[in-house]
Amino acid sequence: MPLKDKYHLRIPGPTPVPPQVQRAMTQPVIGHRSRLASQLIQECSERLKPIFGTRQQPLIVAGSGTSALEAAVVNTLSPGDEAVVVVTGAFGDRFAKIVETYGIGLHRLDIPWGKACEPEQLADFLKKHPGAKSVFLTYCETSTGVLNPVAELARTVRQHSDALVIVDGVSCVGAVPCQMDDWGVDIMVTGSQKALMLPPGLAFLAVSERAWQVIAGNRQPRFYLNLEAYRRKLEQEDTTPFTAAVSLLYGLKESLSLLEEEGFENVCSRHERLKNITRAGIRASGLTLMADDRHASPTVTSIDASQEKWDVEAFRKKLQSHGFYVAGGQQHLKGKIFRIGHMGYCDEWDILTVLAAVEVTLSQMGQSVEPGMATKAAQEVMMDV
Ligand SMILES: *Cc1c(COP(=O)(O)O)cnc(C)c1O
Repeated sequence: MPLKDKYHLRIPGPTPVPPQVQRAMTQPVIGHRSRLASQLIQECSERLKPIFGTRQQPLIVAGSGTSALEAAVVNTLSPGDEAVVVVTGAFGDRFAKIVETYGIGLHRLDIPWGKACEPEQLADFLKKHPGAKSVFLTYCETSTGVLNPVAELARTVRQHSDALVIVDGVSCVGAVPCQMDDWGVDIMVTGSQKALMLPPGLAFLAVSERAWQVIAGNRQPRFYLNLEAYRRKLEQEDTTPFTAAVSLLYGLKESLSLLEEEGFENVCSRHERLKNITRAGIRASGLTLMADDRHASPTVTSIDASQEKWDVEAFRKKLQSHGFYVAGGQQHLKGKIFRIGHMGYCDEWDILTVLAAVEVTLSQMGQSVEPGMATKAAQEVMMDV
């Protein structure tokens, strides 16, 4: 039996919240139109800029990550418009569903799950669909653990069309390099409960000047998710059009402090190392990695267990009984893979622990496991500084 409240949340979001952030969120609630709230909103937006790599003011929406995906669709497109959605997994699929829901002509570029979209594939597809007004990409495809080469893909779009480049960065922005202005990304989206180390409930969007022009001319009705209202309120009054999630903003201010104290480059290299350590351990234990080395995400690792003799869901349940939460597969990958999240408030020792738990659990399920193979390989990466 795990000790009460002592568990290892190793899913790719929500992720563990640092104590300092947790404490900040217990401050008394303040009025959403107070000067304090405005200072908080203004300051958070300002300090989010380097994480997005933008000169624009990131907008803060009270909603889960999907609210920002939907905002990106309804603000830039109208029924009858055409859009290209690159689908590399469940979250690309979600973008496609939102696009379809609003009566937008959908051109889906389906990539086999577990693979990244290559720039040439996108270039060929764009030639077939020159009428697309927006191209939707997923930076980290959380369902497979693939990090798509967004900088190259954005450049490819810019070379072939005037379409806006809209990116779902929910499961990696804050943990991986992001230079949306330099890359030519028009809208970058993220959420609070992944790399930003907060509970669920906030979504963030940064929007390019080019996208603001499209948004201004877009007739599609929108109310809660009207981005022009968010921009106006932020620029003119340092506030949000609707009640800000003030407690979460207190937490955000602290998590931004943590990222700044560590230094954003160090944060990114920590996540690179977490990826390398996880992959070394998984490989050494004889398990199969889903993503190739070139496209593996620094924030989540998928393990392909489809050829194993043991049942993935039974394995996850057993792990849970020890206090370890890892994610299963989504859609057709359910029961075939499991995923270890390693973003946000996660260090190398956390990975050693989860690798050890995987070995012990497999052994308890009757598999012949030589103890210490995974942790040994992981430690070797850790020692080779
Ligand atoms: C978690 C996630 C989302 C947002 O999901 P919500 O449940 O709405 O917060 C969107 N895209 C990706 C890639 C994600 O990992």
